[in-house]
Amino acid sequence: MSDNDKSAHDAARQRGFSTLAVHAGEDRQKFANAITDPMFCASTYTFPDTASVIEFIEQKLPREEYGRYGNPSERVVERKLAELEGGESAVLFSSGMAAIVGLLMTRLSAGDEVVFFNECYHRSREFCTKHLARFGVVTREVAACDYAAMEAAITPRTKLLVSESPTNPHLSVVDLDRFAALGAKHNVETLIDATLGTPYNLRPIAAGIDYVLHSATKYLAGHNDLLAGVIVGSEEKTAPVRKLRGIMGSVSSPHNIFLLARGLKTFELRMQRHNENGLAVARFLAAHPRIERVFYPGLETHPYYDVAKRTMRGFGGLVTFLVKNADWRQTAAVVDATRIARIAPSLGGVESLIEQPLVMSYYECTPEERKRYGIPDNMIRLACGIENHEDLVADLEQALRH
Ligand SMILES: *Cc1c(COP(=O)(O)O)cnc(C)c1O
Repeated sequence: MSDNDKSAHDAARQRGFSTLAVHAGEDRQKFANAITDPMFCASTYTFPDTASVIEFIEQKLPREEYGRYGNPSERVVERKLAELEGGESAVLFSSGMAAIVGLLMTRLSAGDEVVFFNECYHRSREFCTKHLARFGVVTREVAACDYAAMEAAITPRTKLLVSESPTNPHLSVVDLDRFAALGAKHNVETLIDATLGTPYNLRPIAAGIDYVLHSATKYLAGHNDLLAGVIVGSEEKTAPVRKLRGIMGSVSSPHNIFLLARGLKTFELRMQRHNENGLAVARFLAAHPRIERVFYPGLETHPYYDVAKRTMRGFGGLVTFLVKNADWRQTAAVVDATRIARIAPSLGGVESLIEQPLVMSYYECTPEERKRYGIPDNMIRLACGIENHEDLVADLEQALRH
C-alpha cells in the first residue's frame, strides 16, 4: 500500500458504514485497472532470483510467498473487515470454527483456564470441553451474563474470558463495558463472538474487548454461499493468530474470498433489512395467542432489553420463540408448515431459515443436557432473511394455524 492509499484508508474511517463496506481496504487503482479485485488463483509466488528470496526472508521485501500465508485479495478483505469492525487488524479463516479454534490454540497452553458464558455455539463448547481438555486446558462455564459468577471463576491460570453477544439461540446481550472491565481488572484477555451482533449492530472493540470473532459465513458474507471466519484485534494481538493460521492451514480459497468481498458490499443494506424483519416478526409473534414466549433483544419484554438498547444499533434478524402447549411434534409441524423460510441450520443470509434447535443442534443430547442448555422441545429459531416482512409474517400466521 502506498502512503497515498494509506491516508485514503485513514480518511475512510470517518465515513458512513456503507461507504466503508464498499470502499474500505481497497486500493483506488487495481490490477489491470479493473474496478474489482481479481481472484489470485495461485498456490505459490515466484522470486526473480536468490537474492530476492534472501531479502524477503530478512523481511526487507513485503510480498506474497505461499498461499497458506496469505493472498493479495485476502489482504484486501481483511483490511475491509478490520475497518468495519473498528479494529487494527483482521485475520481471515476458512470458517468461523476455524477462527475460534485458531484463536484458542494460539492463546491457551496446558494448565491454562478459559471461562465461558454458558449460552454458546455448541461446537465452540465441544471444542473446549472435549478437545482442549486433552491438552490440559481447563474450561469453566458460568451462567450467561452472570458477571459475579464469571469473576468468581477467574483464577491465576485464567487466560481468556469468552462470550457470544447476542447469544445463540437465547439472544442474551452481554454488557460489553462490564465484560471488558472484568478482563482488565484481572489482567485476562476477552473474546466476544459477535456473529449474531455483527459490526453494524455491535461495537465490541470500542468497548475495550481484545478479540472479536465472527462466523463471516453468516451476516458478513450474507448469501448462504460460503464459509468463512474472522478474528479482529490489535496488530500485536492478532500477529500470533496469523502465524498459527499459516501452520494450521485453515485458509480460504481465492473463490471464497472473492464471494466474501462481493457479499460485503451490501452489508449495511442487508443489515438494515434484517433488523427491520427481525423486529416486525418478533412483534407479530409476541402478540400471537399460540406463542408462549419470544426471545428478541428489541422487545421491551426481553430480559436484556436495556443492555441491548444501550449497546446495539439494531437487534438483528434472529428470532427465537416457544409454541404454547406444543410437544416436539406439534412444534415440528409449525416448522414444516412454513412456505418461505427453508428448513436449515445457519442464519444471516438473504434467505430466511427456520429450525427447531432440539432437532437441528441438540438431537443427540440427553433431556438433562438440553434442560441445562435451555433448549425446550417447543423452541423454534427463525433467522429472518431480507424478504419483505409482510410476507414473513403472513407465512408464520398460516403456519401457526396448523
Ligand atoms: C455459525 C456460528 C459459528 C461457527 O461458524 P462456521 O462459519 O459455521 O464455522 C460460531 N459462532 C456462532 C455464533 C455461529 O452462529
